[in-house]
Amino acid sequence: MKRKFLTFLLTLAAVLCLCFALSACDSGNGDVEQGNAQQPEPEHTHSFTADNVCSGCGDKWNYTAGLQYELNNETDTYTVIGIGEASGDVTIPYGYQGKAVTSIGENAFRGDGLTNITIPDSVTSIGIRAFEYCSELESVTLGCGVTSVGDHAFEGCNGLTGELKIPNSVSSIGDVAFGDCSGLTGKLKIPDSVTSIGKEAFSGCSGLTDIELPAGVTSIEIGMFYGCSGLTGELKIPNSVTSIGNYAFMDCSGLTSILIPDSVTLIGNWAFDGCSGLKRIELPDGVTLIGMFAFEGCNSLADIQFRGTVKEWQAIEKESRWNSFTGDYTITCTDGTIDQEDNVTYFEQ
Ligand SMILES: [Zn+2]
Repeated sequence: MKRKFLTFLLTLAAVLCLCFALSACDSGNGDVEQGNAQQPEPEHTHSFTADNVCSGCGDKWNYTAGLQYELNNETDTYTVIGIGEASGDVTIPYGYQGKAVTSIGENAFRGDGLTNITIPDSVTSIGIRAFEYCSELESVTLGCGVTSVGDHAFEGCNGLTGELKIPNSVSSIGDVAFGDCSGLTGKLKIPDSVTSIGKEAFSGCSGLTDIELPAGVTSIEIGMFYGCSGLTGELKIPNSVTSIGNYAFMDCSGLTSILIPDSVTLIGNWAFDGCSGLKRIELPDGVTLIGMFAFEGCNSLADIQFRGTVKEWQAIEKESRWNSFTGDYTITCTDGTIDQEDNVTYFEQ
């Protein structure tokens, strides 16, 4: 009986957790906040129309006037194309002239002096370079309708501080989208809704201390976390990733161990080059290629755990200088060990 009751409690807890997880983006701004601009929770979830009025309670969406717009004839919706007469804290409206505002155009706010940006749930796409080099930007609140963040969208926004909250509506993050956002700190959780992350998307985000990658992502693109020197501890790569791109984690000097899952077959050139704090790597037996300079300069490396036999390790194609300037490491295979000079000691049967 006791056990049954415990099972019931655990199930109940799991269901409740799931509800919270699913509602993470249902409550307007509260959960997708970045920075400290917390607004009081409404008593219900507002549902703003293109007139910027909540259809449920009549509250008005307090947006910034004076922005520049362009009508998309095909969709009969508006794109924000410029800051116009606005400045400082900017809140994009749900609608303009009675029609929904659904996107932020290419270069719309590039280099402008805005300090905070709030993007409503009506917006689905953030254009290429939309906020690039907005160095005075301190916080960004992404709405729960955003599905794509364009290439270089927030590159060089080095005034952004705190944790970046990516809503679980986002499916794609473009190349260099958050490159050099060095003020972002804490854990970056990329939700499972994200299936595509571009090259160098978070390169130079040196303040991040931990990352959680989405479960379905199949490749770590070139330079995705290059120079994220604040990452510490163990790096876990989801068991859906098949390739780790060139210089994906180069100069992530704070990482101490890396767990590479069974799904990975390719490790790119310079993938972990300069990871000077790295002591331990676990590699699957399915790896077929380790690129040149892949572990160059990993001068703390002591322990490679290989989930295959000595023969399988020797069969991996390793490109030139994959292991130059590493520490004195031992490779532990399932049937023996190999030291750095390729001397093999088989385990006793
Ligand atoms: Zn309302």
